[in-house]
Formats: sequence, C-alpha cells, structure tokens
Amino acid sequence: MESQLKEVRNGPGVLDLDPKSTVGGGVQDIYGEDTATQNQIITPWSVTVASGCSLLRDPTYNKGLAFTEKERETHYLRGLLPPVFASQDLQAKKIMNNIRQYQAPLQKYMAMMDLEERNERLFYKLLVDHVEELLPIVYTPTVGEACQKYGSIFRRPQGLYISLKEKGKILEVLKNWYEKNIEVIVVTDGERILGLGDLGCQGMGIPVGKLALYTALGGVHPSACLPVTIDVGTNNEELLNDEFYIGLRQKRITGQEYYDLLDEFMSAVKQNYGEKVLVQFEDFANHNAFELLAKYRTTHLAFNDDIQGTAAVVLAGLVASLKVTGGTLADHTFLFLGAGEAGTGIAELIALEMTKQSKKTLEEAREKIWLVDSRGLVVKSRMESLQQFKKPWAHEHEPHKELLDAVKAIKPTVLIGTSGVGKTFTKEVIEAVSSFNEKPIILALSNPTSQSECTAEEAYTWTQGRAIFASGSPFDPVTLNGKTFTPGQSNNAYIFPGFGLGVVMSGSIRVHDQMMLAAAEALANQVTEEHLGKGLIYPPFRSIRKISAHIAAAVATKAYELGLATRLPRPANLIAFAESCMYSPVYRSYR
Ligand code: NAD
Repeated sequence: MESQLKEVRNGPGVLDLDPKSTVGGGVQDIYGEDTATQNQIITPWSVTVASGCSLLRDPTYNKGLAFTEKERETHYLRGLLPPVFASQDLQAKKIMNNIRQYQAPLQKYMAMMDLEERNERLFYKLLVDHVEELLPIVYTPTVGEACQKYGSIFRRPQGLYISLKEKGKILEVLKNWYEKNIEVIVVTDGERILGLGDLGCQGMGIPVGKLALYTALGGVHPSACLPVTIDVGTNNEELLNDEFYIGLRQKRITGQEYYDLLDEFMSAVKQNYGEKVLVQFEDFANHNAFELLAKYRTTHLAFNDDIQGTAAVVLAGLVASLKVTGGTLADHTFLFLGAGEAGTGIAELIALEMTKQSKKTLEEAREKIWLVDSRGLVVKSRMESLQQFKKPWAHEHEPHKELLDAVKAIKPTVLIGTSGVGKTFTKEVIEAVSSFNEKPIILALSNPTSQSECTAEEAYTWTQGRAIFASGSPFDPVTLNGKTFTPGQSNNAYIFPGFGLGVVMSGSIRVHDQMMLAAAEALANQVTEEHLGKGLIYPPFRSIRKISAHIAAAVATKAYELGLATRLPRPANLIAFAESCMYSPVYRSYR
C-alpha cells in the first residue's frame, strides 16, 4: 500500500508506458512536463488508490476542508489545504450562502454542477437538506434553460453520449464508463425535452438531473446511476446553426435506422449489466416513446417516466383529492388538454384504478375520460386519422375544435393540462369548469413554468379559491382574500426515485402496471388532513426520503406478489429495508 501511495504521489502522466514515446529524452519544463514531446503520443494512465492532489480532485472522495488532521497526514494532504478544519455542515452552510447570492437560476444551476464535480457528497447533502429550495434549480424549471444552453455551459461530460458514430460499438462505449455496477439508467434522445421541443444532444441535462434525484430523493447510490443521451441528430435549426452545439450536426434519423440503434443500445445494456438494470425512458417524442415502451417492457426492466411515472403521480394526487371532493374516481369526469405520452398514460392508469375500485370494465372506465389534442376533442369520427395511442379515447360525440367548447359540452370535474402549451387554461375555460363544480380539480402539468397551462394565482383567482390545484413546475403560495393557498407540485419526481429504489432493492426483473398503481397508492397515503387543509394534494418534498421509502416498499411488495422479485429471502420489513438501502451523503472517515 505504502509503495502504491508513493507512486500515486508522483502523479499521473509522469510514468510513460508507451514504447513510441520519447519521454525522458527531451527538455523538462518547470511543470515536469517534457516540452519536447508535446506533439508525441503518450499513454494516459491512472491508479486506483487516490491520495494527495488526486484525492482532492476526485469528487467521490474529496472532502475539502473536512479532512481531519489524521487524514491529512495519512493521505499526503499536508500543505495542499489551508490549516483550518471545516465540518460538512459548515461547508454546506457556506455553499448555500454562496448559491443564494446568485440572482439568475442558471448561475445557481452551474454552481451546483460545479459542486458535484468537486465534491459529490457535499452536493448531495445540499440537495437532501434543501430539497425544496434546490429542486427547481437542478430540475424543472431551471434544467430546461440549462438544456437550451447546454452547449455554452458544457464543462465536463456527466453521462454517456451514444451517437450514430458509435453504431456497432455501443457495448464498447458502455464499457468505457468509469463505473461498472450500474443499477439505473435514464436515457433520452432529446427529441421532446420538457415542453421545449427538440434539443438534440443537449437533452443530456435531463438524465443527469433525473439521476441526481434518484440519489437525493430515492437514495440510489450515485455510482449506480448512468445518464445516457442517444444522439441521432436534431431537427432544431437553431441548434444546428449554433457554433457551440455539442451534438451531431444533422437531421434526425428515423425509421429502421433509428430503431436498429436503439435496439443495439438495449441489447448492449442487457449484455453489459444483466437483467436487473432499470432503464427509464425519458423525454422521447411520442411517435417513438410508445413503440419503444411496447417493445422493451416485455424483454427488459424498463419503463417510460413520461407515460407511466407521470400517471402514477397524478393518480396519487387525484386519490388524495377525493378526500376533499368526496365520492370515488368513477364519480368524476376527466378532460385532458394534450393527448400524448403524459395525457394518455395518466388516462389509462386512472381507468385501471377505476376498474380496481368499482365493477366497471376497462372500456366503461375509459368512457369517463376525454381528451383534447391540437385538433380538438378526440372523438370517434376522427378515428381513421388518430395515432394508435389515442384510439382508446375516441368516444362517440360531436366534434369540438376549441377547449372551451369541449369543457362546456363534457362538463368535467377534473381538468388536466398535458399539452406542453402554456396559457391554454384561459379565464373563460377555468370559469366554465368552476361554474358547474363546487371544487374543480385543475392540474396544469406542462413544464417548464413558461409552458404551464395556467399559473397557481390564475387558478385560485378565477375560481374564487375553490380550485384544488397542482402544477408540474413549482409555483409560490398564493394569498387570496386573506387566505393562503399552497399549490402542490404534481411532478413525477415524487414517484420515480422511490419507484426505482423499490425495483432495485427487490431485484425485480420487469416493471408491471400493478407496481405503478402500488406506487400511486403509497404516495396518496402520505397525504394528511393537514396537507389537504393547506390546499396540498401531495405531501411536501421536504419529507421525500420518507415518502420514497414507503413507495419503494409498496413497489417491492407488489414485485414479490407478482413473482418478479429475485432478492430472496424477502426482507420482513420492506420500509426499514428501503431506508437501510439508501445512500447517505454524510462524509466517511478514511483509514
Ligand atoms: P406529447 O408531445 O406526447 O403530447 C403533447 C400533446 O399535446 C399531443 O397530444 C398534442 O397533440 C397536444 N397539443 C399540442 N399542442 C396543443 C394545443 N395547442 N392544444 C391542444 N393540444 C395540444 O408530450 P407529453 O410527453 O405528453 O408532455 C406534454 C407536457 O407535459 C410537457 O410540457 C411535459 O413537460 C409535461 N409533463 C409533465 C410531467 C410532470 O411530471 N408534471 C410529466 C410528463 C410530462
């Protein structure tokens, strides 16, 4: 060990193993580099035990000023740090003070990303301890802006980029990743990033952000998380003409070529990591999302967060709302603006839950649910031209082009926005919904904030405070006639971290819809009378780790019931087991 450590202290790059190199024969400059060999080929090398400068520069192990005297002595850190010792709590306080000084959310985002690259545990400590303050920074809405500007702010790769150039070599690319034991992969092809459209390769911010939440909110170890962006080109002209764009400068490939690349990726994932790595599809455009899900849900441990994760979180909010409105799900009439991944995914899970709660068949349950897309109400007379995933929702009705007309005709008790188009719940629409409901449920789910169908203030004001409201991106509390309403955030961030933990800890080999229903019920069970009294249909994010443990336990329970779990024997107390599996960002002591 001693000789290994000394070798490390000499620093990488000094030892040259490449026979073609002439290191040693040239002139040494003051940095110990051989200036005469600048243009020559050398072999990069590294070692496994970090100490000295390499320890300080390793984000997994770096503790900055929190290294103790003994650690500084043992690990060759003397002189590399100022003499003071700072606890992790003090470091966290300092960084939060610094972050709060920034005005622009994107600056805060970059400060957080820099921190993650310097000191991973401190990054997660901040995120865990200040989740409500930092979630809008590392996640929606700021992550949307970060993706739009990703080329300009790009510093270091935070995930794997698999482009068309890697066709035929994807297995090798996976082997290049520095961690070997991967449990969760979030993958996007960047075609529908939030409600911002095609951001191509710059969509990488989304898998990176989602996986940060897997760790902070769900306790999955950061080293077990792999963000992946598949770059098949982009149709975004602005990006194609942007000199700082980091992706392939070509139009998207489609059809067989696209599906072959995805197939190679999915096969390589299974080959490299086995049967039990969870693959979360994220922000794919719907023309691919449904097909990929249908194809891989039976062969891989895979789910689509936009379709299934969103569905679970919305169902949980609706089930919690029933405690305020009374009645059952089947007593409600649902109208969606937006009939894509989120809209049809939520609709299907609501229908499934209705069949569980009542004697209704799936067909009967679906009749309570109506969708409006960019061409108007989805009705039988449009059947021929409808995309496959909309067809189950085409009911017998006269067509309506405008949302307002559809609202007046259908008279929904629940209005849900999943269109990705902001400001579409106009005053007239919301007044119409509230005219025939004492407590209208209004969910404006589109992200980021700019695409929200309405603001919290609009929803409360236009319903005179009667709305049960939640939104995809966060809004501040609203005070109306002396009463303060706290809008809930209906975001899949409530579900996927705990869901993933449950899948991973039970060693599940497939995702089943019943597991999503279990996750939704577990989340709804965390909503108390006190939350509902404040207008919240979701528990606050500050207790998310406890919530995630409950969701994980419910998901794992279902996986065992369905015979999909492989971790045996089944732990007796799955909530306690989930908590014991969770990554803690507290620093560890080094021998
Ligand atoms: P999608 O592209 O699959 O679906 C969008 C749907 O909206 C399509 O049916 C389209 O026809 C319809 N649409 C588009 N313009 C419209 C208009 N002007 N009027 C009526 N309908 C219109 O996208 P998606 O994956 O369903 O996502 C939609 C939005 O939902 C995005 O903004 C996304 O960020 C948001 N979302 C939120 C969450 C959450 O957790 N809150 C989760 C997933 C998606």
